[in-house]
Amino acid sequence: MSAAAEAVTDALRELHTRFAGLRDGQLADYIPQLALAEPDAFRLALISMDGHRYSTGDADVPFTMQSVSKPFVYALALSVLGLDEVGRWVNAEPSGEAFNAISLEPATGRPDNAMVNAGAIVTTALIPDTPDAPGFDRILDCLSRFAGRQLDVDEQVYASEAVTGDRNRALAYLIRSAGPLPVDPVAAMETYFRQCALRVTTLDLAAMAATLAHGGVNPLTGVEVVPEPVAAQVLAVMATCGMYDASGDWLLRVGLPAKSGVSGGLIASGPARFGLATYSPLLDPTGTSVRGRAAFGALSERLGLHLMHNPALAGSTVTLVTTADDLPSAQAGPWERARRERVAVVAAQGALDFTAAERVLYALDEARPQETGAAVLDLRQVTDIDPVARAVLQSGLGRLVEGGVRTAVADPAGHLVLLPGAGEQDERTALRPFDSREEAVAWCASGLAD
Ligand code: GLU
Repeated sequence: MSAAAEAVTDALRELHTRFAGLRDGQLADYIPQLALAEPDAFRLALISMDGHRYSTGDADVPFTMQSVSKPFVYALALSVLGLDEVGRWVNAEPSGEAFNAISLEPATGRPDNAMVNAGAIVTTALIPDTPDAPGFDRILDCLSRFAGRQLDVDEQVYASEAVTGDRNRALAYLIRSAGPLPVDPVAAMETYFRQCALRVTTLDLAAMAATLAHGGVNPLTGVEVVPEPVAAQVLAVMATCGMYDASGDWLLRVGLPAKSGVSGGLIASGPARFGLATYSPLLDPTGTSVRGRAAFGALSERLGLHLMHNPALAGSTVTLVTTADDLPSAQAGPWERARRERVAVVAAQGALDFTAAERVLYALDEARPQETGAAVLDLRQVTDIDPVARAVLQSGLGRLVEGGVRTAVADPAGHLVLLPGAGEQDERTALRPFDSREEAVAWCASGLAD
């Protein structure tokens, strides 16, 4: 790794040093194999949207996913069945209860959400067997694509939970007795216990969290694991329900969609920013890694990662609001100047999303093209336009054209795909793309009536 990027690893190392000495909490022992974990183990990993990997501690040593598997199986169910169908079986309301509570809607028996055991058992049961693959193989394949490598089951942990998992089994039978379990509880529990015993490393978990943050596309492999809307839905449920009865406090203080597991794994996703993971098996009473919680809280505060903390970087989109007579030009005669005064010019830069597009349209109005009769939007310094911004800009420019404003765009990269049929419109009113700003201005100026 380059010396500069070591600074990111340093931030993780600093957290490690700061919190490694925390000895509060207990190992989970209701699954006997988990009680054999090394209490001092503490690992941290971060993966960026470009697939850059940073870690500290033994981030390649495996452990079982436990409940960190739940959001990913939920993602698979949403991809296969859609939100409406999954929502018929599992609600999306915070339960305010512990992970293994009987969190079922009184009238329907529908579990409160897919992050508590009751909801996760139903979600797992919703993944149908296909002629080619049993439900568990589909889960294994999907979660492996989230991680970017083939995962496997820790058979000892699986067996340990299968022997002692009566409470979960009881939950499954209870759910079926109330209605919403579409398969046999025995089969559902077999799959659920195997999914919880999937073996991952801290870096695997960071890749999985990063894939959710990256709109469902694994930033290491480039593979689309789930569609973007599904990734957003899963992050929403993680944000409200991922930390069981500590979810509200977590969103308040840490402010990131997250999921904990009783092995000591913990993930958090910064949408469009990074995936974070930690492993440290001493747990607080809500089943969350004590060191993990402390480290994520400190990191969020230090780097300003809280979702609701979103200082707008104002002023970076619109770089110019003027009329063309103020721009350098080869045509400087008085007649030309008078016409150029009547061409409003706005220039934008960078990547345009909805917020940026709104700024651009507002700036165009400030330049008063309705009065001057012509407008040029200079997009030469724009690097990208997302589909929403493109639609909003097209609509705003379309209104100018309809209002009789002679409108041209300097857009050599073709970012702003023109309205269908624009090329066929009347020569005087069409929204025209040009390679240079000067050509766009000249076209506008030449068409203005004296
Ligand atoms: N396999 C565990 C259980 O179902 C997962 C619980 C958790 O990680 O929170 O009890």
